[in-house]
Amino acid sequence: MLDMKSKNPVINQILDAYKPIWSIKHATALMEWDFETYMPRKGTEERGVADSQLHLLYKERLLSKDFVDLVESAKKQEGLDNLERGVIRMLDRKITKETKIPKELTEAESLERIEGNMVWRQARAKSDFKLYEPHLEKMVEIKKQIADKIGYEKHPYDALLDTFEEDLTVADLDRVFDVLTPRIQRILKKLVDSGSPFCNESSLGRQEYDIQQVDALNREILTLMQFDMERFRMDISTHPFTQSMSLNDVRITTRYEGTDFKRSISSTIHEGGHALYDLQCDQSLSATPVEGGSSLAIHESQSRFWENIVGRSRPFVQLVSPLIRKHVSFADQASDDELYLYFNTVKPDYIRVDADEVTYNLHIAIRYEIEKKIIEDKLAVSEIPEFWNDRMEQLLGVRPARDSQGALQDTHWSSGLFGYFPTYTLGNLVSAMIASKMRQDLTDYQENIRKGDFKPIREWLRLKIHQYGSVYAPKTLLQNIFNEGYNPDYFIKYIEDKYLMS
Ligand code: MG
Repeated sequence: MLDMKSKNPVINQILDAYKPIWSIKHATALMEWDFETYMPRKGTEERGVADSQLHLLYKERLLSKDFVDLVESAKKQEGLDNLERGVIRMLDRKITKETKIPKELTEAESLERIEGNMVWRQARAKSDFKLYEPHLEKMVEIKKQIADKIGYEKHPYDALLDTFEEDLTVADLDRVFDVLTPRIQRILKKLVDSGSPFCNESSLGRQEYDIQQVDALNREILTLMQFDMERFRMDISTHPFTQSMSLNDVRITTRYEGTDFKRSISSTIHEGGHALYDLQCDQSLSATPVEGGSSLAIHESQSRFWENIVGRSRPFVQLVSPLIRKHVSFADQASDDELYLYFNTVKPDYIRVDADEVTYNLHIAIRYEIEKKIIEDKLAVSEIPEFWNDRMEQLLGVRPARDSQGALQDTHWSSGLFGYFPTYTLGNLVSAMIASKMRQDLTDYQENIRKGDFKPIREWLRLKIHQYGSVYAPKTLLQNIFNEGYNPDYFIKYIEDKYLMS
């Protein structure tokens, strides 16, 4: 059905001219992976030089007159098919992004990223927001200028959102959070007030595990999920990530902290979900502008679908519990039920990355409110910690005692990522939309998971989402599959059914 051998001569010329651009991306992807995993620490400086030179080369090629002219002339062509339109859409976005933002702003941002990030690290260690404040102010100023250069119709934050999630707007997100936040707040209150078994902390999380054993366990789980080890590998890094060099070289990392083994398992399954998206993209899209996922939110929907909806489900825990009892010595007597509750413990707490699936989006709601207010000048940078803590208290019932537990916890702002956080919540919402539709389509869905037969699930994801790479913009893809956009109702229902009904 997909055939990248285009009949259109201009498209073919574009695809040929794109090959060197793709190759630079291939090289920098491999360098990034290497930097996070095996590179000797003292190689940092030269790696930085090589990386920024390659980025310049990439930009030169992408913005070369010949290439831009080709893309421009293709935009005027009639009778292009979806795939060809996808190629043009993706290239046009890349070119526009690189041309609209003036060089001085890009440079100011990358400089501030390095300096601000360094100071943020110190500030977090000392829990001293004041130390970081001037840098955040500078970054916000740069981001506002970038938003103006990119342009927007209604809200300056729209311009920033679009850089991470095509066509995402404040109007979309207000619609989501206006429903999601109060409903989740209510569910959380019910769980806490009723003394739900989901709120009991398990002793399984406190004991030290044998890293080699949990590594072996993770690899057995990946085998169960049928990853093709000739196109895929897993290594270790502090912050787990997925990096695709190409459609046939997709790599994930996981982490081993020594306690709370579910974190390592969940993070392995999460990154595995990201990897599967790229691995199941149609091979004919290889090395073209439309290989790989549609957007950050759609990508996150894949990782969250596997991590939470499959990985924290009762049938999945039943499937892997014999493996857990085999590899985790202190869990050898744990019942399936105990393990299920351990994987699904709900605890309102300060740190986003440790949050369970019930409370997670409340953390994002706070960040979204702050980013929106900051960009439209309704909140000053100096007011962030207080606002943050107040909202934590209102939404989660806990008030951070230190800013390291509050406004200083994430790296995103110091790295210039304004508008990124909401894609995490959208990913969660879409994962629940997928689950709802999949259950209608696959009658043996639960039983398939219990038996470890993931073929029908993988195939559903491949046919509906993965094969298309980024041929379709996220909103179009959602319309094609669900006939609607980012809808919080499915996620709310999923959470209610799972946590209040059982
Ligand atoms: Mg992710």
